[in-house]
Amino acid sequence: EPFFNPHVEALPKYNAGLTLASARAASGLERIARLASNENPYGCSPAVQQALADGAVELWRYSDPSCELLRAALGKRLDVELGNIVVGNGSEEMIAAASRAFLTAGGIALTVAPCFGLHEIEPLAVGASVTKIPMTAELDFDVTGLEAALAQAPNILFLPSPWNPVGAALDRDGLARLIEAAPATTLFVLDEAYREFVSDAIPDGLEMLRRTQRPYIVLRTFSKAFGLAGLRVGYAVCSSPRIAKMLAAAKTPFNVNAMAQAAAVAALGDEAWMNAAVNRLTVERDRVSKALRNLGLRVARSEGNFLFFDAARDSAQLATALLKAGVVVKPWLEPGYRTFIRVSTGTVAENDQFLDALRAIVR
Ligand code: PMP
Repeated sequence: EPFFNPHVEALPKYNAGLTLASARAASGLERIARLASNENPYGCSPAVQQALADGAVELWRYSDPSCELLRAALGKRLDVELGNIVVGNGSEEMIAAASRAFLTAGGIALTVAPCFGLHEIEPLAVGASVTKIPMTAELDFDVTGLEAALAQAPNILFLPSPWNPVGAALDRDGLARLIEAAPATTLFVLDEAYREFVSDAIPDGLEMLRRTQRPYIVLRTFSKAFGLAGLRVGYAVCSSPRIAKMLAAAKTPFNVNAMAQAAAVAALGDEAWMNAAVNRLTVERDRVSKALRNLGLRVARSEGNFLFFDAARDSAQLATALLKAGVVVKPWLEPGYRTFIRVSTGTVAENDQFLDALRAIVR
């Protein structure tokens, strides 16, 4: 149709996974291990439930369009000026806003392959093209390849670290090299959605970027470690108020609802709860990784709450077989990676349900 935007019409599909109801219908089972969306299976802090108790939030009022209280809490925690922070309806909204604000038709975005769907979809939606630098044979960042691509001066870099779906995170040397290689005309977007899960060896990207003069945005979220995926809150820390204003202009006005803002403030007030969940999940992640290796599978090193492994067979078919056992994982459908599966770290019981089902299939 003449009124269809051709860029949107041609977009690759975002694989949002299965709902609980459809997984139950497909498996005929009640007990489903939901390991496809990198959520926190332990939920969120009890302080959040309290903040959302009956009457605590004025549901009949529009939410604060600038998220003043939440930005104040974030600014304090990160030691960043409020004018440099923009809150989004999930960090995914900030990826969309960055694409609208800093790309035009014909522009170029750079990212990695396999990629987080939206790092490709949002640039394509505004008519830009996307260059993807594949992971190495060791299932890691190709820093040299990214340096070469940065020398071409793309308009924007979407760099996930930890890397969804692979799991690898850039070490200090790797990140320093990419920061150095990025021309001043490239907006450096470092997506740290899984920041809270990384080991001590991984640098804080915001700390590194703020010591430079270059333009950047660091993205973080309440969806993963803080366990608030359903409420949709993420944020961008920008190198300047000017960049933050552009992002804010590109979002919808009342983008973060009132419950979500109150919940995020409460979650920040109970970091101990979040840290406890992170500790349990990283121990479990490493246990599952070892079990996968013991099955003879190639597993990428992970600094997140998920694992990426080469199942050495069609991943969509394997995902369907796992679903019959009540396990939902994410088969990678991007060309070149169709034997790979991404599995989130769940509770001990969920992880066992996954490993038992997988053993029965691959043995
Ligand atoms: N960036 C990355 C790398 C992610 O993996 C995700 C969630 N899967 C997001 C951004 C978006 O998260 P949210 O919108 O829930 O903050």
